[in-house]
Amino acid sequence: MKTYPDIEKRIGEVGRELYAAMNKVPSIFDRKRWMGRTMDLAMRDEEFKLDLFRYVDVLPSLKSDAVVTALFREYFAEAKELPLLIRRGIGRLSKGFLPHVAAKVIRTGVKALARQFIAGEDLREAVRSLESLWEEGCAGSVDLLGEEVLSDGEASDYRKKYLALLDFIGPASRTWKEDPVLERDHLGQIPRFDISLKVTSLYSQLDPLDWERSVEKTKENLLPVIERAQARGASVCFDMEQYYMKDLIIEIFRQTFADPGEYHFGGIALQAYLEETTRDLPDLIAWAKERKRPIRIRLVKGAYWDYEVVVNRQKGWPVPVFLNKGETDRNFEGLTRILLENSDTVRPAIASHNIRSISNAIATAEALGLPKQSFEFQMLFGMGEPLRKALREMGYRVRVYAPAGELIPGMAYLVRRLLENTSNVSFLREFFAEGRQFTEIIRPPEVTPEAPEESKSGGFANEPARDFSKAVNREKMRQTLNESKKGFGRKYPLLIGGEEVNTEQEIASLNPAEPRQIVGRVSSAGRAEADRAISEALKASTVWRNTPPEVRAGYLFKAAEGLRKRREELAALEVYETGKTWRDADGDVTEAIDYLEYYGREMVRLGGTFHPGNYPGEMNDYFYEPRGTGVVISPWNFPLAIPAGMVSAGIVTGNCVIFKPSGLSPVTGWQLVEAFRNAGLPPGVLQFLPGPGHRAGEYLVAHESIDFIAFTGSKDVGLRIATLAAGAKPGQRNVKRVIAEMGGKNAIIVDETAEPDETVKGILESALGYQGQKCSACSRAIVLEEIYEEFLARLKAAMESIRIGPPDDPGTFMGPVIDEVAMKKIRGYIESGKSNAVPFLERQVDGNGFLLGPVIFRDVDPSAAIAQEEIFGPVLSVIRAKNIDEAIAIANGTPYALTGGLFSRSPKNIRKVREEFRVGNLYINRKITGALVGRQPFGGFGMSGVGSKAGGPDYLLQFMNPRSISENTMRRGFAPLR
Ligand code: NAD
Repeated sequence: MKTYPDIEKRIGEVGRELYAAMNKVPSIFDRKRWMGRTMDLAMRDEEFKLDLFRYVDVLPSLKSDAVVTALFREYFAEAKELPLLIRRGIGRLSKGFLPHVAAKVIRTGVKALARQFIAGEDLREAVRSLESLWEEGCAGSVDLLGEEVLSDGEASDYRKKYLALLDFIGPASRTWKEDPVLERDHLGQIPRFDISLKVTSLYSQLDPLDWERSVEKTKENLLPVIERAQARGASVCFDMEQYYMKDLIIEIFRQTFADPGEYHFGGIALQAYLEETTRDLPDLIAWAKERKRPIRIRLVKGAYWDYEVVVNRQKGWPVPVFLNKGETDRNFEGLTRILLENSDTVRPAIASHNIRSISNAIATAEALGLPKQSFEFQMLFGMGEPLRKALREMGYRVRVYAPAGELIPGMAYLVRRLLENTSNVSFLREFFAEGRQFTEIIRPPEVTPEAPEESKSGGFANEPARDFSKAVNREKMRQTLNESKKGFGRKYPLLIGGEEVNTEQEIASLNPAEPRQIVGRVSSAGRAEADRAISEALKASTVWRNTPPEVRAGYLFKAAEGLRKRREELAALEVYETGKTWRDADGDVTEAIDYLEYYGREMVRLGGTFHPGNYPGEMNDYFYEPRGTGVVISPWNFPLAIPAGMVSAGIVTGNCVIFKPSGLSPVTGWQLVEAFRNAGLPPGVLQFLPGPGHRAGEYLVAHESIDFIAFTGSKDVGLRIATLAAGAKPGQRNVKRVIAEMGGKNAIIVDETAEPDETVKGILESALGYQGQKCSACSRAIVLEEIYEEFLARLKAAMESIRIGPPDDPGTFMGPVIDEVAMKKIRGYIESGKSNAVPFLERQVDGNGFLLGPVIFRDVDPSAAIAQEEIFGPVLSVIRAKNIDEAIAIANGTPYALTGGLFSRSPKNIRKVREEFRVGNLYINRKITGALVGRQPFGGFGMSGVGSKAGGPDYLLQFMNPRSISENTMRRGFAPLR
């Protein structure tokens, strides 16, 4: 890379000129105004900032004035220090100020805040803003604010809005006065205005996992917009969004503009906070060179920093953004240089409000001998007005990014801007609010060394899900799915005392998406095999129970490693044997690994001897011993994870275990046994005994030598097992311990303050993920009246748009249900449901296998069978409630108590639901499925189960007997003092 002598000197000179121009404090930081004072407090007080932003976020979606004022009080009444305006507001409210008057004042205040950053609420206002920007000497790029697109209808609305925008601004822009700085660059004439596009809004099912289809479908809505832009004389820039979408957005960009054709005004934004941009930028430049037509690249620092850090940490994925602001700034300068050095191919757009970054761009361009028109600066509407004026006076082209649209969908944007302005590392904040000195501002970006991340060694961390936005991961899964078919029809034995046993009776395990395909044939145990398995377990027991806990845990860690190595293979098997989509199948394998890792560590924690009390003269020991021999009976819906949890808990605590998998997923069950066998687990500690539940299962449960039963499955079978286990047979030495995780009738409550996008998405995923066959699935949505119709309409449109089909297709959201029996049972519920509720959606689907479309019943009576019984399929009952109390009463009104959820932005309602909605796992403002081991220990009570939570700190205790030994250490008045 070239170096430029004395560039720092020139940066300083340019910087000083700009610095001198920045003499007016923007109203957002002006402490003489209420907005400035409010921001000032937000910058000093994190808690107030959180409440303020949350309130601003919820406000536009509130329908009633009473709720506007009630929430105002909920958010701010407890704050210690408040800006005068807010304090007065609360004072007036408590003096009985009428809600509609108060609400009006509040709405006006927040609108004023929004106006700061939003160029117009409709097309007319937006055009007026663009026109006055043009008068001022600045070009514009219009961004249409929009809610998240959840259905095909919403995606096509978005396209239509862009077409209308282009039709509206195109003719208007022709009347603007001539301005050579804005209309020409070094490569020739350029359009008079620009639009910024969020490509993710053009296809509701956009997903990097479904790469090819996402590109194609997005282009269907995108191409008409590009054509219209050309016709109306606009340039187009693709906004860059979350990192997870980055590669896909770049791909869509490349495919859209692959044919250079007549239109030369396509552009894309790249983010300097991503390390990967240092590769993406040269790649795009090389591509543009090959195409022999220019592209515009807008270089930004990146607007999703907080999001990227939080979300990627939660997922256990590498954080893709620089953690240090200095590194982003430095990268920005490096990328600026690359852009400018290639300005024969790209039209560089330097988007920043930072004097140092801007001065660097100018000095670099000068060093390269580039004319001023060969690049442009971009700034956000409402930020950095004096800067843009100064730049224009210096002869540079400045373009203002001008968002337009209604306030509700604009809130996400507004909150991002507020966050940006109040963040500790914001240039504008440092400059205006903190009065940073010029010498500090103009210094080259400093990279302070990052504090090393806390080491996770030894501690438990969840196995991260596969990142399917990466081509290599998609390819591997695709290949494995193809190879996996070669193993179809294979035979699998029982495992008894370490020996493989083949029986004449077999279970044929079918592919629910292609029921003619037999995934595997598995030996099926009868009584004789069950007896043998029990006697082998008893034989192995003495040595195993005396094996040190750390050694037993070691087998779990080794088995986990084995699963990790075969991750794709196991996930592919689940796709075929149980009809899981790629992500769900991968999720089941990671959960299995988590159980092994977590319980292994738990056993090490619990394995020693504790000494309760601390008194001289006595020595108290407290420790745990295995219960003996147990049976594990598992369902098919998490065919690896659930048995991995129950089996590993059983054996790591020193018991020997007989594992009976579900007859619908025995091939996957075998893989767990293989993993333990490959880990070197001694023979007899674990037996594999598939067989019919009512015969092999019941026989084992009732056997006198069985000391505990760990069961997960339906309520009816769980209760049957509890009854069988209760009786004592001759020779029986233990009261059997039953751990039973059973079904649910899980509800999500939606109140009038719920965030609409998140709610629809959360309910859709909770209700239809794995076809509604998760025990935690949402089968009731209890929705408050105020938003009932609006919510239902959007949910229906979203459910109509998802893809239903074979689960090995990466674009499938919903695959088949598990078998014909399940399909008939679900259909029975749908038919009987129609006798007293209205089907609001009943989607028909064709295709092979046991495919069933989603069904929504609306206005369901809370006591109806479809609102009381577990259906275990894609059927959602929507129930109307007058208020939050009624909603909670309905939610609690079934015998089950497994999972539940709430979507709300009211602190009071959140508190109330936390206290009163009595379920094992309550989720607030997120989907109610997908509990993670060690983070959301899982399990219910009531008719949903007995036992403590899987993946939690009490789980292993159920598999052991605690013992206490107390020894008097006093001999003739002489005792050790400790
Ligand atoms: P199921 O009750 O039909 O079968 C579960 C297991 O029990 C299978 O291995 C089956 O062969 C065996 N079985 C059946 N009858 C038996 C009997 N009489 N004696 C002994 N064993 C017998 O359940 P399923 O269809 O496999 O799974 C779906 C059910 O599991 C749903 O009700 C779901 O809510 C529940 N589930 C609960 C949880 C939870 O953690 N609470 C997790 C997953 C699934």
